[in-house]
Parts: sequence; structure tokens; C-alpha cells
Amino acid sequence: MKDLERFKVALLEEKARLEKDIKELGDYNMGSSDDDRHGEEKADEVEEFMNAAGEIAPLQERLEEIKTALNKIDGGAYGLCEKCHKEIDEKVLEAAPESKLCQNCKAAE
Ligand SMILES: [Zn+2]
Repeated sequence: MKDLERFKVALLEEKARLEKDIKELGDYNMGSSDDDRHGEEKADEVEEFMNAAGEIAPLQERLEEIKTALNKIDGGAYGLCEKCHKEIDEKVLEAAPESKLCQNCKAAE
């Protein structure tokens, strides 16, 4: 696999961005949960909390995939399909550097 460094940089950038987003959403949750004096406002806050929690989950999932991909770069297994162990097309990796499956296996899922 050539251009490994390029994918690593892209993954690290994406990882930093996701960690920042998750932290911001988390801070927002903390800040909105400390006022229970007004029942009506609290209902709004609970709703906001649920929205934020719903936004964090997919970000964390993606963050885990990116961490896995970074581990693979260090372990020398990056860019190989987890199912058929063939090389994943570089175009696929360029679009989504955290890809775990080649186009064929992904289509078969
Ligand atoms: Zn495959």
C-alpha cells in the first residue's frame, strides 16, 4: 500500500475533529442539566440532552472505526479487507479512510 502516510494524516485529522465535536456536545450536555427550577424549561433541556446524546453516539462509533484503522496502519494491516483479505481499492479509502471492507464484500453485506 502506497501513500499510507497520506491516509494516516487524513485519519488523524478526522479523529481530532470527531474528538472535538464529541467534547463540545458533551460540554453542552453538562451545561444544560444543572437547572431544575423551571419545569417547562427542564422539559426542553431534557429534549436537548436527548438530541445531543443521539448526535454523540454515531460520532463515537466513527471515532472507534478511525482508531481501529490507525492501529492497522501501525500494525501493517491497513487497507486490507476484513472479510476476503484483499487490498481495498484506493478510491474507497480516499472517500472513507476508515473502510474495513472492499467494495465486493461491502456490496455483499
Ligand atoms: Zn473483501
